[in-house]
Amino acid sequence: MERNKSNIGKEGKTENRKENETKRTRTNFPKKVAKAPLLSVVIPLYNEEKSIPELGSNLEVVLERISRGSYEVIFVDDGSTDNSRNEIRKLNQKNPRFHCISFRRNYGKSAALSVGFKAAKGKYVITMDADLQDDPEEIPNLLKKLNEGYDLVSGWKRQRFDPITKVIASRIFNFVTSIVSGIRLHDFNCGLKAYRNAVVKRLDVYGEMHRYLPVLAYWDGFSVTEIPVKHHPRKFGKTKFGAGRFLKGFLDLLTVIVVTRFMQRPLHFFGGIGTLMLLLGFFINLYLIIEWLMGKTYLSNRPLLLFGILLIIFGAQIISIGLLGEMNVKTISERIKYNIKERF
Ligand code: UDP
Ligand code: MG
Repeated sequence: MERNKSNIGKEGKTENRKENETKRTRTNFPKKVAKAPLLSVVIPLYNEEKSIPELGSNLEVVLERISRGSYEVIFVDDGSTDNSRNEIRKLNQKNPRFHCISFRRNYGKSAALSVGFKAAKGKYVITMDADLQDDPEEIPNLLKKLNEGYDLVSGWKRQRFDPITKVIASRIFNFVTSIVSGIRLHDFNCGLKAYRNAVVKRLDVYGEMHRYLPVLAYWDGFSVTEIPVKHHPRKFGKTKFGAGRFLKGFLDLLTVIVVTRFMQRPLHFFGGIGTLMLLLGFFINLYLIIEWLMGKTYLSNRPLLLFGILLIIFGAQIISIGLLGEMNVKTISERIKYNIKERF
């Protein structure tokens, strides 16, 4: 009994001490703990060791000038196997506003952005690539446009410094995306963008959805626009996306349509296509049956019969199966846990 009593007493004391400590901490450093920065810059990177020192110093100059020290830079190291993390550590040692979240393996640009977005505390969030192709001097221009009342301002690489094949393919990609999504942008996949904090907290970036961030935001109800930005040729290293990007990009466009416009009414999408096929198949077969009843010809002589049956079967399948899969992917995407190696 006695022992118990004394234990209780001790516990009580420890609690008191803890309380006092927190009180003291609160009074000593109230602002540092509570104040969120004005700007968060999120930079996904994969093996960009040579670019990082220059990027860091260029960014620092611009950010100090426009935010008077109220900023944070979050590098998301997407499983780099070169010296990138050490380069970022050097920046962090000189300026503690530079941070790093480092993945244990390469998850892709979308995953890196997603984790950076979750960590970003700033009122405004800027994203840019780490390869020096995006110009930090454009950040004030993006913010100015954002302050006109937009929720997302995307960069438009009007004059691009990329291989000609990539530029042409990208034009087609942007044209189709613009038609299908209903947003008139010239450049959806520019790394340089500015967001209000609320936008990045709502965006669900997984797979390779980073190509469609303006579409996702727009269909989530946010206002989206673009301004032309300066673009530079890649100075060090090489592009991380091969030719396969275009096929994947177009497949992802289908996903974007389904999960933005049709997520809550899947039957309008799949049901529409399926019903069309069903009806076409039905009328083809109806026509053949009438012909047969009138004794014109044997059905075994009509290849069209098979086509009609095929349409009916496909139509029914598209209606019933297609969207269930897509809905499942969307549901589990928020539960994917990334294996983070280190934060500093
Ligand atoms: N990136 C990444 N993870 C990847 C591939 C790329 O974080 O799996 C980063 C890359 O380091 C760069 C940005 O995404 O900072 C854009 O990549 P890249 O410059 O290769 O694309 P491009 O300019 O050719 O479209
Ligand atoms: Mg690049």
